[in-house]
Amino acid sequence: MSTTNVSHSLKWEERWHPLREEWVVIAAHRQGRPWRGETVAISDKDIPTYQYNCYLCPGNLRVSGERNPNYRSVHVFDNDHPCVGQNAPEKPIAPAHLYQSRNARGIARVVCFNPLHNLTMAEMPLQNIEEIIATWQDQVYALRQRPNVKHLLFFENRGEVVGVSNPHPHGQIYATNFVFKTIETELLAMQRYKSETGAELFAAIIEAEQQDGRRILFEDEHAIAFVPYFARYAYEVYIAPKRRVSSIAELTEDEVVSLALTMKEVTVRYDNLWQLPFPYVMCMHQAPVDGEYPNFHFFISFQPPLRNPTTLKYLAGPEIGGGNFISDTLPEDTALELQKVSNTHYRIPKLA
Ligand SMILES: [Zn+2]
Repeated sequence: MSTTNVSHSLKWEERWHPLREEWVVIAAHRQGRPWRGETVAISDKDIPTYQYNCYLCPGNLRVSGERNPNYRSVHVFDNDHPCVGQNAPEKPIAPAHLYQSRNARGIARVVCFNPLHNLTMAEMPLQNIEEIIATWQDQVYALRQRPNVKHLLFFENRGEVVGVSNPHPHGQIYATNFVFKTIETELLAMQRYKSETGAELFAAIIEAEQQDGRRILFEDEHAIAFVPYFARYAYEVYIAPKRRVSSIAELTEDEVVSLALTMKEVTVRYDNLWQLPFPYVMCMHQAPVDGEYPNFHFFISFQPPLRNPTTLKYLAGPEIGGGNFISDTLPEDTALELQKVSNTHYRIPKLA
């Protein structure tokens, strides 16, 4: 085997992640290294609009014994298999010495994006995305009233490679008596930046992205989507309203329309990139609901696990052991790839 063309010099660059207050290592040359590990195959087979054994389809029976109504738009129900439950033990067994424990409590809900088993965010009409956003807003209004709810985590896991076996488009809601670590870290970073500079951190990030311009995928009057300068995952995208709001509930109707359009732009480009249903973890970064957080800027992250159509980004020594991400790709390059593809979904038949 000849190795004459393979460069073994490591040219690493570190980029500061201002929201996590940590360094991301960019090692873009690694993408080309030979890969002998596991590869994944993303299926693009036709999925039916209804599946008789899907626990999310309208009218079907769930494991709890409840039957889904014949819903016609977005549908929310309490998760039958919650990670966080309402009936967690009152008093955990007291641990020894320095170890601590506390009650984890919460409400877990499932948000079916629409009644159709196969209609993903990338392919659904814009109005459907607006309905989903309106539902998320209603869930904020309702759940923040509940006693002991400190935080609302909204997310969507899409694709088998992130552990989702059921393709029926849906998201999840965790309303918990604790604040997730990422949100806590971001909140402290935003507060620290404000006290040290007098400026808002996320507004500064948006400004920096606009000044550079190379990583912006879409922008209109109210919303912006970009591959952040400090992206940890290849094809990571942030979507944010330009006006600082601490949760999705505070968006005006115009801002909701913009956000829906921006989400569509991003998800369509994702699918078009490799003409495959693009897997990702989407998460809403919202301020805790137990007080006022005037420096928190709500945003949405899309973190896709793939670095090319068949290769997963594995978390290994540097990430799990060392605690810092190594990115195999330059954010400017992956942004360019996403900018180049069409914003019309590949499955939409072209007019002759
Ligand atoms: Zn279904």
